[in-house]
Amino acid sequence: MVDLEVRREELAGRLEAVQERIRRASAAAGRDAAEVTLVAVTKAFPASDVRLLVDLGVTDIGENREQEATAKARELAGVAVRWHFVGQLQTRKARAVAQLADVVHSVDRVRLVTALDRAAADAGRRVRVLVQVSLDAPTTGASPASAGDRGGASPAQVAGLAEAIAATEHLQLGGVMAVAPLDVEPAYAFARLAEVAAQIRGEHPGATDISAGMSADLEAAVAAGATHLRVGSALLGTRPPLG
Ligand SMILES: *Cc1c(COP(=O)(O)O)cnc(C)c1O
Repeated sequence: MVDLEVRREELAGRLEAVQERIRRASAAAGRDAAEVTLVAVTKAFPASDVRLLVDLGVTDIGENREQEATAKARELAGVAVRWHFVGQLQTRKARAVAQLADVVHSVDRVRLVTALDRAAADAGRRVRVLVQVSLDAPTTGASPASAGDRGGASPAQVAGLAEAIAATEHLQLGGVMAVAPLDVEPAYAFARLAEVAAQIRGEHPGATDISAGMSADLEAAVAAGATHLRVGSALLGTRPPLG
């Protein structure tokens, strides 16, 4: 119990610091901080941390691996949170993810759209999905498979994917997501993402979500119009090694 009390204090302090960063960045951008949803990425941390964060007022939880997400969602059945799946998703894991996720941020190919739609139908759910955009510099081979290992569709593929999602019955097109590449200035990457987001919104007015920004670059993301920040280590501390 004492350990939980200590952890609660630590998480409360970290959460307050992150919220303050979001307030400052929003003010600097002339935005209302209430437009920005904080998704706490709890990968590699226990369900007890999720419970503490929810207790402290966090409403949105992100996970990047199907097995871990499934286990935590089971353990926390009945706890009112929105689950976000933010990691690269194998098609064969689509079924499990469609059962637990309210939002999937990492949809980057039509096969995955088809698999998620079918799985959502079978689960009797409607899942909001974002198109993950790769902001890596184009590779010489121009093959999507060689565009780094973070996943994501090339900007040129995004409109087609958005169309495919909008045409499904059980998925809802939420918008776009990106991870800033390591070798690109975050402000530049997020400005590019904002352009892609505006294009998609032109065709699909409901696709208002822009998921961008992590612990290190959330200010740049807020400045570029992000509606969802995926924050892990700034909230939870250094991640233990993944098993
Ligand atoms: C782990 C992860 C995050 C959080 O990263 P931090 O740097 O710890 O804030 C955000 N997005 C994705 C896709 C992740 O896998």
